[in-house]
Amino acid sequence: MNLGGLEAGGTKMVCLIGDETCKIKERATFPTLTPAETMPLLIDFFRSHKIEALGVGSFGPVELNHDNPFWGHITTTPKMAWQNFDLAGTLTKGLGVPVGFDTDVNVAAMAEARLGAASGLESCVYFTVGTGIGAGVVLDGKPLHGLVHPEFGHIPLRSHLDDPTPDGFCPYHTGCLEGLANGPAIEKRWDKPGRELPPGHPAWQMEAYYLAQACMAAILSYSPHRVVMGGGVMHQSQLFPMIHQTVLDLLGGYVQHERILRQIADYIVPPGLGDNAGGVGALLLGLEEAQK
Ligand code: ZN
Repeated sequence: MNLGGLEAGGTKMVCLIGDETCKIKERATFPTLTPAETMPLLIDFFRSHKIEALGVGSFGPVELNHDNPFWGHITTTPKMAWQNFDLAGTLTKGLGVPVGFDTDVNVAAMAEARLGAASGLESCVYFTVGTGIGAGVVLDGKPLHGLVHPEFGHIPLRSHLDDPTPDGFCPYHTGCLEGLANGPAIEKRWDKPGRELPPGHPAWQMEAYYLAQACMAAILSYSPHRVVMGGGVMHQSQLFPMIHQTVLDLLGGYVQHERILRQIADYIVPPGLGDNAGGVGALLLGLEEAQK
């Protein structure tokens, strides 16, 4: 069986072909231009592989409520050409196969919960830290949707005392997680992209302070069995021990569980699926649609 997976991102669209075990067989990447330019390329690619169903993990915000006539639309994105665009509907029409639709972080969280670093556990929180920041929450094997869907990337944080840009750079909020800690914020704060900053640079301790606050909020809100942190910024592996220590300092011994108090390096971890978490998650969603 050929399944399709689409990781719909603000800068690129990653198209995957997989089998029923969600093993990736083929991959193609297209730049996210306008819908008129990009959609025909995606449809041609998936058509040529004769897929039986497609799963989409999309950048957002998106409409996920099946009872809403705007289900499957991208809603208030700052990418103007994609505002209120019917992504799932256009793919359904163009391909003639069932399409599953969720946020990019929810599908990645599901992939980590089923096949990655949180497999066998009842719950996890998956963070992506890259151009954007978001988190997907899986509880009892299902992604949390709620009223709309969580927007964990925009929770307010306490600014670091030495931060020269303590308000961050989110156009909507002062001092939110994404505005303080995404890749572009690191670049604006230090006038250099993160990949050019050495591991000992103070940028990373500051970054760890922000990401540790996010982990703390996740631990206090959802009590997940594991926290998984992926995305481009998390390739800076020196962040993990700094985050572990800062989470322990911030929690102050309040949450009494040995998984946190004594095994935190095994509690806040990189994704088991590496950079494929989102793609595998999209395939999983496609598989669910195929089995309906
Ligand atoms: Zn924000």
